[in-house]
Amino acid sequence: MNEKVRCLIIGSGPAGYTAAIYASRANLSPVLYEGMQPGGQLTTTNEVENFPGYPEGITGPELMEDLRKQAERFGADIRFGMATATDLSAAPYKVTIDGEKTIEAETIIISTGATAQYLGLPDEQKYAGSGVSACATCDGFFYRKLVVAVVGGGDTACEEATYLAGLASKVYLIVRKPALRASKIMQERVFANPKIEILFEHETIGLTGEGVVQGANLVKRRGQTDEEQVHIDIDGFFLAIGHKPNSGIFKPWIETDEVGYIKTIAGSPRTNVEGVFASGDVADPHYRQAITAAGSGCQAAIEAERYLSEKGL
Ligand code: NDP
Repeated sequence: MNEKVRCLIIGSGPAGYTAAIYASRANLSPVLYEGMQPGGQLTTTNEVENFPGYPEGITGPELMEDLRKQAERFGADIRFGMATATDLSAAPYKVTIDGEKTIEAETIIISTGATAQYLGLPDEQKYAGSGVSACATCDGFFYRKLVVAVVGGGDTACEEATYLAGLASKVYLIVRKPALRASKIMQERVFANPKIEILFEHETIGLTGEGVVQGANLVKRRGQTDEEQVHIDIDGFFLAIGHKPNSGIFKPWIETDEVGYIKTIAGSPRTNVEGVFASGDVADPHYRQAITAAGSGCQAAIEAERYLSEKGL
């Protein structure tokens, strides 16, 4: 027999746990499935210094553990398991967990996050948390007056390079093509910044350093007759080559943009399916911060509560 729940939360980042705190305090008896990476992207971050309420900073795993405990304190039922399929054709909505069990939910809060894209180099793993980052806003502060590189040529790369140039002594922007893809205004900002040096037609093939990143090996014009090996000395290596929202299992029912971000009704976590809400990075191509995710998790829980009470459920 299928298990019936009033409020199902999928995902355990700041959005999911915050939704669980609010939903359990509103007596929605939420059930939360944590997914593959309990705690989400923040568990791969060392120090979080920009989440309000922690004047001395806190580690990513500790912050997520605190949020989890806070949700459990109010009775949220937090379970290990992964949503693997959905049927949102009619309420109650059906969600398959681990390919086996089916949950029937009156409301769903999707907080499955987004995954930063990496180049796929073994060195990215080797130096994870030791000079390799996919979030300049999170980690840029640790590179004050140091030299960093940003990979990518889109808006995110330009934004992150400009942000880092305000902290670091020098920023290399490593772009695989001969031109940037970013919007004109972002490009102009990068071109006008004397601290940013753009390395067009460069690809990263490896990172170097004793325990921490100290350099990057690049190839210029790979495969061309004038191919060249280039080495740069850097202290930090930032990926900005896009994020992949974890929205695949909802796509038959839920509208997404061309990248896969769930479309919500402006200023709210409502999706095109009534009673199904999206919060956090899976619906946010712009901010992607722990605090904005937490805020939207709160909104989603409040909307879920209103929806259930309007329906008398
Ligand atoms: P994009 O997909 O726009 O750009 C990704 C960049 O990474 C491209 O330059 C791409 O190169 C490069 N890239 C991809 N894979 C590799 C690889 N393996 N090696 C090297 N380079 C690689 O992603 P963004 O995150 O920049 O932007 C996503 C969306 O969010 C966009 O719509 C953007 O406009 C929007 N955005 C808007 C902002 C704003 O308005 N303030 C800020 C940030 C994002 P190539 O060009 O060669 O394909």
